[in-house]
Amino acid sequence: MPQLTNNDQEIFPVSASLNDAGDITIGGCSIAQLASEFGTPLYIYDEDTVRHMCRQFTSGFTDAYERTHIEYSTKAFANPALAKIIAEEGLHMDVVTGGELIFAKAAGFPAERLNFHGNNKGREELSEALDYGIGRITLDSFYEIGLLNEVAREKGIRQKVLLRVSPSVDPHTHLLTTTGVLDSKFGFSIETGAAAEAVQQALSADNLEVVGLHFHLGSPIFELEPYSQAIDYVLKFAAEMRDVHGLQLTEFNPGGGFAVGYVGEELPPPITAYANEISVAVRSGCDRYGLEEPQLTVEPGRAIVARAGVAVYQVGGIKRIPNVRVYVSVDGGMGDNIRPALYSSEYTVRRAHEPYAEPTEKVTVVGKYCESGDYIAKDVELPVLDSGDLLCTPTSGAYSVPMASNYNMTTRPAIVMVKDGDARLIRRRETYEDLLATSLV
Ligand SMILES: *Cc1c(COP(=O)(O)O)cnc(C)c1O
Repeated sequence: MPQLTNNDQEIFPVSASLNDAGDITIGGCSIAQLASEFGTPLYIYDEDTVRHMCRQFTSGFTDAYERTHIEYSTKAFANPALAKIIAEEGLHMDVVTGGELIFAKAAGFPAERLNFHGNNKGREELSEALDYGIGRITLDSFYEIGLLNEVAREKGIRQKVLLRVSPSVDPHTHLLTTTGVLDSKFGFSIETGAAAEAVQQALSADNLEVVGLHFHLGSPIFELEPYSQAIDYVLKFAAEMRDVHGLQLTEFNPGGGFAVGYVGEELPPPITAYANEISVAVRSGCDRYGLEEPQLTVEPGRAIVARAGVAVYQVGGIKRIPNVRVYVSVDGGMGDNIRPALYSSEYTVRRAHEPYAEPTEKVTVVGKYCESGDYIAKDVELPVLDSGDLLCTPTSGAYSVPMASNYNMTTRPAIVMVKDGDARLIRRRETYEDLLATSLV
């Protein structure tokens, strides 16, 4: 039986294979079969890969630092079926809005294992989170310190909180996904003294219990060193705050941002390498500054779900401009995956049937939206295509569907979860009725 290439095996779901007919299969289901049953564009999520990644993180980190919680970042892909799997695997989860909280609640996700992030949480959202009994809230501004203290007082609650600090460390990723530098909307800057002020204010707020500090550098981070650099800086700050204000660092959260391979040539360090870098930095920092080793939490979003998801599109028109370019139009695009347009993100594209067939040609795969910037992949080598062929893009499981829009009044795609030859719908395709439902004449 033919097989996926080694490079493709790294970026496709763990269960992906080729069947005797030459079709790519995921979770024992052929892409062609799924497309004919559920239509295109279609997002296929592989349950085995989600569980595999959860276990890789759990074992990778707890082997290196026993008291580690793995906190899945819901925004990478929010879905109740996914949240159930995350809960079963024993992970924690973070949310950044009331909407993400609703998804966690719909899955019955244990409130104690939830952390509420975001740089501008509203009064209503905080109130909903407290009513749900949320485990942690990570505060991001002086406004939030005051607001949460007030909401908690009204409810007679003393809420456990972390403070998000900004360590002024550049993780060398895309500018739009860099979050821990001085010029950022996120977090209290240590460099300017804002973080010290925040620690003092939060410690003196009667209805807040400060349990620790958080930072998040950005995403995706292919280098290890920014983590240890930032961890050392923040632990040093924590020790100063202990001496000056009596801060007890019982919990420490150096965020997420762990990279994944989108194209075969550019693979990230293994999870164990991130785990070793972070655990060594935490231990040696605690040692250096005389801190007790805290409970550690890391927050992978992308790295849990990216590889689990594969997007499937059908080819429509093909435009050949001699000596210039071949444009292959598909039935999705920036409406279901805006990452190429927004971040110039790269994807691997494969034909779903006989993906490695000859002859090939270099093509640019574009979407159906009215923007010249609407593309999926530029200058990719594919077998010569016909209208009606199916294309798939692996590692589409993170930040595609959650950023999907109804631009050009398109309906957002269906999503299926596959396992052992079964496919179940976990989000139905939107309909024209859905589009009209919120508009009034
Ligand atoms: C987005 C985000 C994450 C997850 O980032 P990934 O790149 O998906 O791992 C973690 N923590 C915070 C605070 C975030 O905003």
